[in-house]
Amino acid sequence: MLTDDELCCPPNLYIDGKWVNALGGATRDIVNPADGTVIATVDEADRADAVAAVAAARAAFDTGDWPRTPVAERIAYLLRIADLLEADRDHLARIETLDTGKTLRESYIDVDDVVSVFRYYAHLAAAGADRLVDTGDPAVISRVVREPVGVCVLVAPWNYPLLQMSWKIAPALAAGCTMVAKPSEVTPLSTIALVRLIDRAGVPPGVVNLVQSSGATVGSALTDTPDVDLISFTGGAATGEVIAGNAAKHITRVALELGGKNPHIVFPDADFDSAVDAVLTGAFLHSGQVCSAGTRLIVHESMADEFVAALAVRARGITVGPGLDPASETGPLVSQAHRAKVEAYVALGIAGGARLVTGGARPDDPALQAGSFYLPTIFDHCQRSMRIVQEETFGPILTVERFTTDAEALALGNDTAYGLAAGVRTADPARAERFARGLRHGTVWLNDFGYYTPAAEWGGFGRSGIGRELGPSGLAEYQETKHIWLNTAPAVGGWFTHN
Ligand code: NDP
Repeated sequence: MLTDDELCCPPNLYIDGKWVNALGGATRDIVNPADGTVIATVDEADRADAVAAVAAARAAFDTGDWPRTPVAERIAYLLRIADLLEADRDHLARIETLDTGKTLRESYIDVDDVVSVFRYYAHLAAAGADRLVDTGDPAVISRVVREPVGVCVLVAPWNYPLLQMSWKIAPALAAGCTMVAKPSEVTPLSTIALVRLIDRAGVPPGVVNLVQSSGATVGSALTDTPDVDLISFTGGAATGEVIAGNAAKHITRVALELGGKNPHIVFPDADFDSAVDAVLTGAFLHSGQVCSAGTRLIVHESMADEFVAALAVRARGITVGPGLDPASETGPLVSQAHRAKVEAYVALGIAGGARLVTGGARPDDPALQAGSFYLPTIFDHCQRSMRIVQEETFGPILTVERFTTDAEALALGNDTAYGLAAGVRTADPARAERFARGLRHGTVWLNDFGYYTPAAEWGGFGRSGIGRELGPSGLAEYQETKHIWLNTAPAVGGWFTHN
């Protein structure tokens, strides 16, 4: 089991199998968003640390054993990591809650998901994906094989730190890649814990390296370099553009999981109570800090007033509080700075003429004043052109638009530069199928919202990104495909016949 001391005390950069301090000696305080207290002080890498981490991963890939280790051995490491994560479930969940603010219940779900992701990729790697190709010539053995892509840079955001990093590390390890992980500067603690467990599982030096720092400091050393073969990034679209630009300079492979502005469409034939519940949860879980949050309600005009009224009652009833308090149903925003951005969006909504139904303020409970809490907020009578409708606010803000025809609902559902996820609630199976196929989003939930499984692909259309995580495609991201053609009976070809 990990101890708090192991977790919080530097050194906590991990380079070439050693826990080291940042070369420049810098550290960063990590703050609990529920009360503003400092919960840990971690090493803050600079460019030189990032360069060293990439060099360690490069050497481990080019001259180390890992890419050439039999898949059965790599699988054993993944299963060992899963077991260690499971054994440390309570500790990991507590760390995630202290660092991100999310409720303990959510953190437990994240840890359990991460355990299943490591196990899923162990089993998928065991199945193998190589294939024989029939060339029609019995003397030729033609094989298509999968090989590790090489050195991977894995960059994760602050809202699901452990989960998003594990969606990358597990398939990268299964594929035989080496890697440098960079968590968000705001929430690095669970990634440090994960890497400590990877170290404990005995993964060879240089295979997994960890640097924490701001993206601005180490970003170019990690992404603007010919020494990296793949950058897998989860985060905002603006950062995704920078990373894709850096990758383009070196023709580095890039996988981008970016933001979303996800519609949730409700028809009058849907079950009313479960629809209200799903819209509420989809919008306000983790205080809306979810890439797939259903923050854009598109509801039929005939029921909109009743639906919004019911939603407002439920939203006012949500218990906002510290994630460690079992009574809390949602926690704070990740930082004071992030709350300021959410507040700016609320101001924009009001200035733009949307009708504020509930929320739009910080809670007035004196016990919550030191944290970065914000109340669940609903804006009705929104227009599709409003910035709060089109932009990812990444906070507890639900916008409501109304429609009258199916065509209008579909057009609104696709009226976004993003395309990560969408939900539809209807009792009509034919309509459900039409919308499932018509919506240009990477995931479409029908009469459900927010669920996923490690075995099904996750990712977005449009500005929500490039590539897929989870499922077989999530492993393929970390693999190169090679065609091997073996002629077992070489003979003169006979193409040039004049001499
Ligand atoms: P950011 O884009 O700000 O940051 C994401 C990560 O990128 C952080 O680790 C950050 O470092 C790092 N970073 C920042 N600049 C650079 C750079 N120039 N080079 C390399 N790395 C850099 O996103 P947030 O952390 O604010 O996360 C929220 C965003 O993530 C939302 O848009 C959300 O939708 C998206 N997201 C998408 C998911 C999906 O599955 N599609 C899932 C979860 C979130 P640091 O913070 O340390 O500076």
